Amino acid sequence: MDYLPIFIDIKNKHCLIVGGGSVAARKADLFIQSNAIVTVISPKLGTEMKFHLSQNNIIWKSALFTTEIIKNLSKDCQPKYVISATDDMDINKMVYQYCQEKGIPVNVADKTQYCDFILPAIVNRSPITIAISTGGRSPILARLMKARLEALIPAGFGRLGELLGRYREKVKDTLPTQEQRKQFWESLLQSVFVDKAVQGKIDDAEKILQSRIRNIKNDTETVFNGEVYLIGAGPGDPDLMTFKALRLLQQADVVLYDRLVSSEIVEMARREAERIYVGKKDKDHSLPQENISQLMVDLAKKGKRVARLKGGDPYIFGRGAEEAELLAKNNIPFEIVPGITAASGCTAYAGFPLTHRDFSQSVTLITGHQQEGASEVDYARLANSGDTMVFYMGIKNAHKIQEGLLSHGMSKKLPAAIIEKGTTPQQRTLITTLGELVNAIKVNQITPPALLVVGEVINVRKSLIPS
Ligand code: SAH
Repeated sequence: MDYLPIFIDIKNKHCLIVGGGSVAARKADLFIQSNAIVTVISPKLGTEMKFHLSQNNIIWKSALFTTEIIKNLSKDCQPKYVISATDDMDINKMVYQYCQEKGIPVNVADKTQYCDFILPAIVNRSPITIAISTGGRSPILARLMKARLEALIPAGFGRLGELLGRYREKVKDTLPTQEQRKQFWESLLQSVFVDKAVQGKIDDAEKILQSRIRNIKNDTETVFNGEVYLIGAGPGDPDLMTFKALRLLQQADVVLYDRLVSSEIVEMARREAERIYVGKKDKDHSLPQENISQLMVDLAKKGKRVARLKGGDPYIFGRGAEEAELLAKNNIPFEIVPGITAASGCTAYAGFPLTHRDFSQSVTLITGHQQEGASEVDYARLANSGDTMVFYMGIKNAHKIQEGLLSHGMSKKLPAAIIEKGTTPQQRTLITTLGELVNAIKVNQITPPALLVVGEVINVRKSLIPS
């Protein structure tokens, strides 16, 4: 390692920045965020530094740097750290020289050979801080790594850190041995506790934490550590999974998956994870819904972390709420992970939007497959709504949909789209009209999963094809 990565407490300590431009301001920013007392020496200030001055973040000495200025500072105000970021190398060298003589750590911007310390790129999830350094070799590479980490680490991670800090002593008092504590924290940090805390649901997170402390004291830990993730896996393309979906899938012991979930996504689970197919085809249920829900409860009660993978979004025609209800009733911690629903995934990949200022201000998602006893689709309302209409599970009842809309005055010429196996390499997109919908399904032998879209917005497709 070129540099020792250490985090230094500079709260209320004096730090000096020589230079008033944007590079100096960026460096000053880190000192300010760490609550240092920042003095800036520069004859003029750039916009960013002026902003810092307006916020009382810095003390400004309007002068060209001379060693006399530092010497004249009172003993209490002598800088502990110095940064020189002027575009005059003679001044930078003078600052460096002075600091070397006085033993003050110094950093000359962009000149590694004149740096006792360097300022890393920061991923700030305060109180958690990640520092990235390339040892001054490539600030751009450090920035790219920062961008990757920013995407990987949820924004609310700071809240998690804060909460853990609050319970550290309490857990120490409750669990006397280091081994117990290690087990406790490791298992807690791989549970939905993390997600609750990250989302700011601090009460829920604390409840989980406290119940785990109680259980470990009563030695019932393994019985209670189970939990369930209801994960929306998106419409097909594995790249449309969310970071959260992937993270939770990879920590599951058991994966229950639907027919709509592609094998590539199921394969993203841990190698050791047990995989159970619970998919259903119309009238060919391999496991009835009640059994699926009960299976999740049973597995969680055995201490398993269960990922329930569902196509699209779990709460859109996915019966996710029914499953969640049983989990809640059984007091099993669970987490809902929203996914990209077929309507947005398939239309985007088919090359047209769901709404457009000129064509449609609203969207309705409709199931074409009503449960027995459910009220029929209100075609009269739909026909007058101006909505883009997206029918899920509509292939078998396409004739009803077509009739329903036409009989309420919609034009046969209204654009319609049929999207089969959307977002997968097998996607087929047929652009037709409401009048031709049923015929197009038949002629092209469309099979589920397929989505029917009806609305003027489909016309936008033409203008989105590159010429
Ligand atoms: N929860 C899912 C919907 C489940 S209902 C979601 O949010 O997307 C199942 C219906 O969704 C299918 O019959 C079909 O109409 C639609 N569907 C799901 N994935 C699809 C895909 N890749 N291509 C086309 N339609 C799809």
